[in-house]
Amino acid sequence: MAKSRDKQTCAFCGSEAGERKDLFFIPSMYEGLNICSDCLCKGYEIVSDVKEQRAGKKGKKSPVTELKVPSPVEIKEELDRFVIGQEQAKKVLSVAVHNHYARLKARFTGRDDALPGDLAEVELDKSNVLLLGPTGSGKTLLAQTLAKMLDVPFAITDATTLTEAGYVGEDVENILLRLYQASGNDIERTQIGIIYIDELDKISRKGENASITRDVSGEGVQQALLKILEGTVANVPPQGGRKHPNQEFLHIDTSNILFICGGAFVGLDKVVKRRRGRRVLGFGDNAGAENAVIENMENEDPGKLFAECEPEDLVHFGLIPELIGRLPVLTALEPLDKAALVRVLKEPKNALVKQYRRLLAMEDVDLQFSDDALEELADRAVKRGTGARGLRALMEKLMLDIMFAAPSQKGKSNCLITAEVVRGESEPVLKCD
Ligand code: ADP
Repeated sequence: MAKSRDKQTCAFCGSEAGERKDLFFIPSMYEGLNICSDCLCKGYEIVSDVKEQRAGKKGKKSPVTELKVPSPVEIKEELDRFVIGQEQAKKVLSVAVHNHYARLKARFTGRDDALPGDLAEVELDKSNVLLLGPTGSGKTLLAQTLAKMLDVPFAITDATTLTEAGYVGEDVENILLRLYQASGNDIERTQIGIIYIDELDKISRKGENASITRDVSGEGVQQALLKILEGTVANVPPQGGRKHPNQEFLHIDTSNILFICGGAFVGLDKVVKRRRGRRVLGFGDNAGAENAVIENMENEDPGKLFAECEPEDLVHFGLIPELIGRLPVLTALEPLDKAALVRVLKEPKNALVKQYRRLLAMEDVDLQFSDDALEELADRAVKRGTGARGLRALMEKLMLDIMFAAPSQKGKSNCLITAEVVRGESEPVLKCD
């Protein structure tokens, strides 16, 4: 039976306004001809599928063939443009990342087969990386810069939000979903992306925050991470959230995804110290003597001790050996001292000083910082103890008044930020040229 014309009706499925609360109608240019929200969504899915299929038919190139794998020297040079200091970490990462993608490319293009028989059979381990270093030392920045340079998708996650399936929190597979989204929903690109997992130290076995709904021990999360780190085909719910039956899954192979994990590992220096203390003494010595040796090392720079970290120290810290085994590349970042923070302010490609100079140049203001102003800022950031992270907050507070006033300024002007301004002893002023 024909539906009445004076009611809103979908010209595709025939549903009428009022039948369902969640349904709404979009009218066409012809009176009485509408499409309902359900049919519009279905249409969108069909169009997307057809577009994808067409792209496939046209012979979409695999992202691996298009991947350019720079040499370790080139990678390090690029990292140098963005990251101050951290020479050892940059070198280790450059080699690890080169190896990872060179291996991938060789396997894909068949160059592996050209190797002499005995070498072609050698299985190469996946070079997932663990970065140890204090907050604000550049761990995330390193991972991010690498992904940008290689033009591969990149996702960041925080290990503390992850839980073992069945607990309140995010399933480990959701990390993969985020990478998939970053790839523009392209499975092939997802499978060669980089994932940075922050705060890995917070899921060590000796978790402190008691909770009955979260997996407090952290061990379950470590177990769940193991599989995706090593390489598995994970079933990922495309809408995120919890898995449920009858749902279609994305199948993401993680064997070529590069995982970079990071953490501050507060207290790891003591674990390293203790181990070294034992080694110095050998077997059978009493705990008192061991403590004496540790005391002697008391003045040692914690940064140096991090650099001496060995896998067994991480086991003592609370990571399970299997997880450490999946993170074969281990390197430490140093805390940034005052001199390094001054460099962070002005040298990197996107340094804060350059960013503010650019912002104000758009308002015809020539912004300058005196050297002592930068030192004062760095000094204050050191006192905050959050590494380079503190610099942005300091800078934002410092520049607020100028950023507020500059756009109302007529004509060209200049502004000099001195140490007195940073200390709050004088106001920053815009002077007309
Ligand atoms: P974390 O080590 O905690 O992951 P991030 O990499 O997130 O630290 O750094 C926080 C901010 O500080 C970033 O925006 C980055 O610009 C800056 N930063 C940190 N370390 C460095 C560094 N070594 N060189 C340049 N900038 C840095």
